[in-house]
Amino acid sequence: MGKVTGFLEIASRQPAAEPASDRVRHFHEFVRPLAEDELRHQGARCMDCGIPFCHGSERQGVRGCPINNLIPDWNDLVYRGQWRLASEMLHSTNNFPEFTGRICPAPCEASCTLNLIDDPVTIKSIECAIVDRAWSEGWIRPHPPARNTGKSVAVVGSGPAGLAAAQQLARAGHLVTLFEKNAAVGGLLRYGIPDFKMEKRHIDRRVQQMQDEGVKLRTHCHVGVDVTGDDLLRDFDAVVLTGGAEMPRDLDVPGRELDGIHFAMDFLTQQNRRIARESLGDRNEILATDKNVIVIGGGDTGSDCIGTSFRQGAKSVTQLEILPRPPDREDKALTWPDWPLKFRTSSSQDEGAERDWSVATEKFSGDGGRVAKLHGVRLDPKLHRVDGSEFDLDADLVLLAMGFVRPVHDGLLDGLGVAYDGRGNVAAEPGRHQTSVAKVFAAGDMRRGQSLVVWAIREGRQCARAVDEFLMGSSDLPL
Ligand SMILES: Cc1cc2nc3c(=O)[nH]c(=O)nc-3n(C[C@H](O)[C@H](O)[C@H](O)COP(=O)(O)OP(=O)(O)OC[C@H]3O[C@@H](n4cnc5c(N)ncnc54)[C@H](O)[C@@H]3O)c2cc1C
Ligand code: SF4
Repeated sequence: MGKVTGFLEIASRQPAAEPASDRVRHFHEFVRPLAEDELRHQGARCMDCGIPFCHGSERQGVRGCPINNLIPDWNDLVYRGQWRLASEMLHSTNNFPEFTGRICPAPCEASCTLNLIDDPVTIKSIECAIVDRAWSEGWIRPHPPARNTGKSVAVVGSGPAGLAAAQQLARAGHLVTLFEKNAAVGGLLRYGIPDFKMEKRHIDRRVQQMQDEGVKLRTHCHVGVDVTGDDLLRDFDAVVLTGGAEMPRDLDVPGRELDGIHFAMDFLTQQNRRIARESLGDRNEILATDKNVIVIGGGDTGSDCIGTSFRQGAKSVTQLEILPRPPDREDKALTWPDWPLKFRTSSSQDEGAERDWSVATEKFSGDGGRVAKLHGVRLDPKLHRVDGSEFDLDADLVLLAMGFVRPVHDGLLDGLGVAYDGRGNVAAEPGRHQTSVAKVFAAGDMRRGQSLVVWAIREGRQCARAVDEFLMGSSDLPL
């Protein structure tokens, strides 16, 4: 694979980014892709390492890429300049590489053999370059099915899991209707993740492809409110639930009711709507402009709040995390090829956020009903409060980014009567995806809990195959 001695001769290179001082002035993507020659060199670094841990294998218990992208194969094709073949190979496992090529945390790179010396192949950038080139060359076309089966499927929820399931099912010849309660499809890709990480034109282009393949869209349709689950069971041969895990984790401390304390998604969704010129309805505007912003929670959502706050002109942004600061470097012998816990700095954190670890929020206080201060305390390694370590921070806007606990049960799920697992997610075995209700399947965050885009695509694909088997007795869709 690649050039046999490539990894010895060629240094690893990641794409450059526009400087923080410039990129915080706009909401566009700011990563500058590598030039074609450089990408070919980077592809050449892929070693013939025997077991490609990067592309993962559930059977062998190797983590790597959740969607089992055939990474060494397309690295080799890029090295040889065969971009069109690389694109076909990439699309054989991933419906939407332009999403993962931009926003996947790249567990493949963590499990790359060259990561043993902290120098992995730049897999994610190569993936992104292959699909971007395929779009610009016009190689990505609709694949309408050769025949229609006459079976109909309702997919509820249009995030990456619903999009992948709908595309696969339409390609298998089923009549697919994709239901979405929002004005536009895309789920968290559209309303959660900011444009500076992924511009929404990438979703629009794919949705056009899916419509050309026969997928029907019903936006502004909240299933469980505008139509019932029973309506869908009556009108469709199968129903796929891909509604995500939308119940945010709250912070139950005194002062939580003050104005200026919001869930991260309320803040992020507003900014995405603003950019898309979608109405905010009668909601109060949440803006970070000229404010001291505190972000509670250290994950992806927290980072997106930081980047959005800087772009809105925040006075200061501080991020608080309850867990201790991770080590700078992982112990490779213990962690590789799995995803290591180590200190990371996201591009948004790098734009100037203050960060603090091992802290808990004890209460908020305010002026005239608006939040003004956060009162915190330091924690010891066992997460017990350290007496005497109390501190205050100025807080004009507080964003709660502490993750999501489970899907919303009211309405659709309780109405259908599906069983839940111990965490309140829709119970369905991975790979089979069938729920406790006949004809009803589930995939993505709604089944596995809060996760990643790449896992949602994986589950959508697997679920489509399970539904196809259920409807037809067998399936040619890939596993
Ligand atoms: C702010 C934020 C940033 C993130 N950043 C990243 C990242 O950088 N990289 C990454 O890999 N992952 C990231 N994630 C996680 C990732 O976005 C999710 O894991 C992924 O989108 C889950 O996909 P899904 O299709 O299961 O659900 P979702 O994307 O949540 O989509 C569910 C859709 O279903 C719709 N819906 C729900 N109920 C109904 C109903 N009853 N009727 C009609 N429609 C309904 C919702 O409106 C929504 O559009 C992030 C998450 C958040 C919140
Ligand atoms: S989808 Fe994610 S894990 Fe898989 S190859 Fe792309 S960046 Fe790596």
